[in-house]
Amino acid sequence: TPVHTPGPLVNNNNMPGPKTNSPSDNEDHNVPKFIVDHSTRTTFMKGRFLGKGGFARVHELTDLTTNVAYAGKIIPKSRITKPHHKEKIAREIEVHRQLQHKHVVRFHRYFEDDSNVYIILENCSMRSLVHVLKYRRTLTEPEVRFFIHQLAEGVAYIHGEGIIHRDLKLGNMFLSQDMNVKIGDFGLATRTADNRQVTICGTPNYIAPEVLNKCGHFYQADIWAIGCIMYALLVGQPPFETDTLKETYSRITNNQYVIPPLVSSHGRSLITALLHPDPKSRPSVPELLRHDFFTKGLFPRSLPTLACTQVPQFT
Ligand code: ADP
Repeated sequence: TPVHTPGPLVNNNNMPGPKTNSPSDNEDHNVPKFIVDHSTRTTFMKGRFLGKGGFARVHELTDLTTNVAYAGKIIPKSRITKPHHKEKIAREIEVHRQLQHKHVVRFHRYFEDDSNVYIILENCSMRSLVHVLKYRRTLTEPEVRFFIHQLAEGVAYIHGEGIIHRDLKLGNMFLSQDMNVKIGDFGLATRTADNRQVTICGTPNYIAPEVLNKCGHFYQADIWAIGCIMYALLVGQPPFETDTLKETYSRITNNQYVIPPLVSSHGRSLITALLHPDPKSRPSVPELLRHDFFTKGLFPRSLPTLACTQVPQFT
């Protein structure tokens, strides 16, 4: 079994694992050192800068009553200028807050003050698969089995809740301290009309095919993304990447990609199924979890943090 290395191995900003502070990261004068959630009378202490996204700066925030460290997404209200920005954040909160699964970044709570909106999330201290892949370039098949299986379990749960993520990518596959996948960033997620709603709306017999297909079709977009992620992890670059967006779109439309010979036959067969041009022909999540790629071949029960920077030894 792989050896667990206690604590973060690396802390250089170019490496996976926790980031170290750089002076510019601390130039965040708008966010005080202590942040109070008045509704629950909780004080958080702002710690290390973890990263920044479209609107948000993410800091480690420690709940001073429990001493638990979270990742706090801090969104300045001054940056929420357009109605669609507001909608995006509201949707992210609305969707994410109801999800609770071992492979989904845990949403603890959100609150706001005059200056910011604060989203308090599970702290994923080993950052994301983007950082791992940048460092490693490619991963071994046992590692890909481990990560894609966890991703698919998380997606199965999300879909079961009637939600489509719509933005699955390496950067949204966060990693906990023990190297487990946590799906995050629900900014583009959407709720579908589930079967219950369809039944309530009218006689199912008369439902038009495009209405039924619509739901199915959108869920299958997440399956496609799993295929792209799996390809990228094994090959080291995305399946349809070219120098121009136009050419990339054309390759996506024509389902034009090449799986290099280094990928095993089971890996090849799963990628081909996930990237099937017809959404209805792609496997469902339960089907993909039963694929030979997962059942045949070495499947590690855990990964060492060392895997962020080196090929782990499996025994
Ligand atoms: P946005 O939705 O504004 O793009 P992200 O959710 O992508 O923001 O977060 C920006 C960055 O903050 C990420 O790339 C990552 O480095 C860091 N980050 C976000 N969420 C977490 C988390 N739960 N744990 C640790 N780091 C996180």
